[in-house]
Amino acid sequence: MTTTTLTRPELTAADRCDRCGAAAQVRAVLPSGGELLFCGHHARAHEERLRAMSAELQKGEK
Ligand SMILES: [Zn+2]
Repeated sequence: MTTTTLTRPELTAADRCDRCGAAAQVRAVLPSGGELLFCGHHARAHEERLRAMSAELQKGEK
């Protein structure tokens, strides 16, 4: 059975920050459907702007 969900796969060690290449800790999902990955540092640096764009921030636990 397939259900439609907004939940995306968990971030893994293979996911890298789009800005610096460090391990991604946060995924920002844009209203357009695009997504960006950020390390902890860049997630904080861009969080305000991402929220202004109505992006949804999803934080990985690892
Ligand atoms: Zn980074």
